[in-house]
Amino acid sequence: VKKAFGNKKVEITLDEKIQIPSDKLVIAGPCAIEGYDQLLDTAKFVKEKGANVLRGGAYKPRTSPYSFQGLKEEGLEILKAVKNEVDIPIITELMDIRELEKIYDVCDIIQIGSRNMQNFPLLLEVGKQDKPVLLKRGIASTITEWINAAEYISIGGNESIIMCERGIRTYNDYTRNTLDIAAIPIIKRETGLPVVVDPSHGTGIRELVTPMALAGLAAGADGIMVEVHPDPEIALSDGEQSLYFYQFEQLMKEINRMRL
Ligand code: PEP
Ligand code: MN
Repeated sequence: VKKAFGNKKVEITLDEKIQIPSDKLVIAGPCAIEGYDQLLDTAKFVKEKGANVLRGGAYKPRTSPYSFQGLKEEGLEILKAVKNEVDIPIITELMDIRELEKIYDVCDIIQIGSRNMQNFPLLLEVGKQDKPVLLKRGIASTITEWINAAEYISIGGNESIIMCERGIRTYNDYTRNTLDIAAIPIIKRETGLPVVVDPSHGTGIRELVTPMALAGLAAGADGIMVEVHPDPEIALSDGEQSLYFYQFEQLMKEINRMRL
């Protein structure tokens, strides 16, 4: 494996407020933006409890074409309004090169989802712009493939890449994916890039989010990405793995107790 980033520590600065890996990155918010109040309430709550980045998908890569596909442009407008109101950096997923400009205008970090980890034209394109990119591990990707995907981004000149371990498909039938905790220190060693752990997609089960977030941090992750919803029972996507507000608050208490 070619060492992508020569083991150098990559410092990514967002808004001058957050530096990773110096500080832990806590990315929280709903899977999908469903409306202004839903995103605003979540943003206020997670920020108050210690999140430093708000997540929310406007364009959603859903397994079924009949599932909610996201609010798209309307979702981006909501993101912009909530960012102004709450003053928090935001991350949202870019699914299609044609949406790059629109997404670039509203976000602080561009998310490349699992399903697009090997969309090479998309990777090359985000490598040519200057915002940090969060690169999720492909649903069934090896670590080598994941590192190569980061290489695709970096050859355009953008080395502000955050690697996100979000679980891979295995024969384990009790969780949505199998969170590969060992990949966290491996990626850090091989690339020097910051790594965040996503226990929401990694397990698919709300009760497992906190223990797996803590496991990821204990393994050296620079941060977490978790889904939080004001009312997960009625969420339009990924409700089963979304934390209730009180659970996010508990998670933050546990993280602070770890004294990382
Ligand atoms: C998401 O973060 O909402 C998402 C779609 O994740 P992934 O690409 O890891 O499935
Ligand atoms: Mn999701």
